[in-house]
Amino acid sequence: MKDLLFKWLLVTGVLFSFHITDLLTVHANEEPLINVSRQLSKAVIQEDPEEDLPDLDGGSENSGRERQQPVDLRILQQRYPDIFFLQGPTDEKRVALTFDDGPDPRFSNDVLDVLKQYNVPATFFVLGSRAVANPEIVKRMQNEGHVIGNHTYAHPNLVEESDLDTLEQEVTKTEDALNEIIGYRTKLFRPPYGFLYNELVEKLRDMNYFVIGWSVDSLDWQEDPPEVIASNVLDIIHPGAIILMHDGAESGGDRTNTIKSLQQIIPALQEQGYEFVTVPELLNIPLKK
Ligand SMILES: [Zn+2]
Repeated sequence: MKDLLFKWLLVTGVLFSFHITDLLTVHANEEPLINVSRQLSKAVIQEDPEEDLPDLDGGSENSGRERQQPVDLRILQQRYPDIFFLQGPTDEKRVALTFDDGPDPRFSNDVLDVLKQYNVPATFFVLGSRAVANPEIVKRMQNEGHVIGNHTYAHPNLVEESDLDTLEQEVTKTEDALNEIIGYRTKLFRPPYGFLYNELVEKLRDMNYFVIGWSVDSLDWQEDPPEVIASNVLDIIHPGAIILMHDGAESGGDRTNTIKSLQQIIPALQEQGYEFVTVPELLNIPLKK
């Protein structure tokens, strides 16, 4: 009988402790906690311009890209051919390297070092929040002959989360911030994740922007080995290509392989006779408003 009582106490004891563990787990995963930390990180972005790495509002490239592409960039390009570009003229061996999501104090300077090593100009689509936090990197980009474009302030998913007013605020806030640093209002815009739809493109047209997509995706945000990133580019390169890469990453993301892949991509294309130019040079369009 004593033995039975002991077993009963043991079983209830174990069950009770499971219950306690469950309760703790449930509380640890409660949504409000996640929301609070998200709000906190937003508050840091707004109140502390010294914060070096404002994160991407719409999530990482990885999580963003997993969603369905709202309107195919090629369809939008055909609809708005005067302001929407995916590539340049194909009759000359010229290509444009483009880098998104910086300035990122962890990686942008290394990207700039490689570009300098090969004396190659590029186009950087920067986030307003990160430009405000790292103006000296944006200055360096400009001083070394690169072109700066607008990639929104906080990298929202413009289709899922935003309306036209949000787009206007994101773009204007970035345009103003960049104007303070580089001394002109850029005419170049690239949407986060390449996500747009008709009304957003029309709004950007009204705001006097060119929308710049890409024709060659390095898929570098997948953080594959440098050889894979390089062949993603070299396998489908063509005259007039706009090449998509990233000098910025989400917190925890890494662009080391992007930087290493550039050491392969640039000399390989130069050997094939390609010339590197900025996006406005490739498209023969003005870069300033
Ligand atoms: Zn981006």
